[in-house]
Amino acid sequence: MKTPFHLMLIPTLRCPARCAYCWSSEHQGPMMDLETVRAATAWITALNDSPVTVTFHGGEPLLAGAEFYEGALPLIEEGLAPRTVAFAMQSNLWLLDDRLATVLAAHGVPIGTSLDGPRALNDSQRGEGYFERTRAGMEVAARHGVPVSVICTFTAQSAPRRDEIVRFFMENGYVMKLHPALPSLRDGRPDPWALPPEEYGELLVYLLDRYLESPGRLRVMNIDDLVKAVFVRRGTVCTFADCLGSTFAVGPDGGIYPCYRFVGMDGWRMGSVYDCPSRADLEATPAWQRLAAFGEYVDEHCGDCRHLRYCRGGCPYNAIAPTGGEVAGVDPHCAAYRRIYDEITDRLNAEMFGGGGAEALFSGRPRGAARPGIMSLVQRMVSR
Ligand code: SF4
Ligand code: SF4
Repeated sequence: MKTPFHLMLIPTLRCPARCAYCWSSEHQGPMMDLETVRAATAWITALNDSPVTVTFHGGEPLLAGAEFYEGALPLIEEGLAPRTVAFAMQSNLWLLDDRLATVLAAHGVPIGTSLDGPRALNDSQRGEGYFERTRAGMEVAARHGVPVSVICTFTAQSAPRRDEIVRFFMENGYVMKLHPALPSLRDGRPDPWALPPEEYGELLVYLLDRYLESPGRLRVMNIDDLVKAVFVRRGTVCTFADCLGSTFAVGPDGGIYPCYRFVGMDGWRMGSVYDCPSRADLEATPAWQRLAAFGEYVDEHCGDCRHLRYCRGGCPYNAIAPTGGEVAGVDPHCAAYRRIYDEITDRLNAEMFGGGGAEALFSGRPRGAARPGIMSLVQRMVSR
């Protein structure tokens, strides 16, 4: 089977919001045009013939406007035919109107938006008025049948209020995807928002328990991904897979980068879609070689970790952000990954080999256990 390919298109790094912990946006800068989309599509066509996911990211991708998407989406589909193209978008939805929602619905573009919890908590992190504007966009999306999932960024300030946040997601029926607030490669200052790894690990275990005990009322996508990774022995999201070579980002001017998180940073530019670089050209760039060195570092330093196969040292961007781009450690969230992977693995082992038989295993609650088991979650995932 061919490895799926992930192309991130960054129409602009501009964003109208002013989130306190954001590291990826600016307030002016270039906007992608359709010629760049055409060149990116031609480059991907020459590079490989794998199934492709195209994610529009930013900055705020809806700033590109309806005309851009009315041109870009069919252009990409036709340019990459006959292979399968799946689209996705990450947007705060402030600019979503009927015309934009119509074109996104027509091309099956699901959207991940962001709310960090109830209005006051969200706006304290993301700025006054953010909550209302995003909720208004969610209503437009719902009217047009555009699926929306909600990313919740947990910061050092909000993590202690996790009960309130989970309640908010359950009351509103939102599917949760969580992000820990991270330090940035663009800004060397200590970050008061960044969530320490130990707290992140405890938060993941807390969410695992809330998720297990709330069937039908709470869904946490990260927990699904973590459980699936342990089960199939392979990372199924980029953080836990080798992203080098299977993920690229294209910035507003056609610059190629390893991932959206590097867009606009000269030292990480690998070329331009207008020059249609080959795989060999990309592999020869300093950016590729620095990230390849991360893979070697992981094999050496995580070698005795029982989770190596489906963790792969975590995200290389996270790993190099604290050191200004040098490979000197694995993802600093290692402690969090170990904590949650240990928890899932140990519970699964106890459920499968700890007695109680198949009846206990598939009843959703291991015999004598105070809480539902991981296998009940696996069943839920399979039936979905
Ligand atoms: S650098 Fe990190 S965020 Fe970017 S594709 Fe790789 S794992 Fe994902
Ligand atoms: S949990 Fe930590 S030690 Fe284990 S593979 Fe992941 S980053 Fe490496």
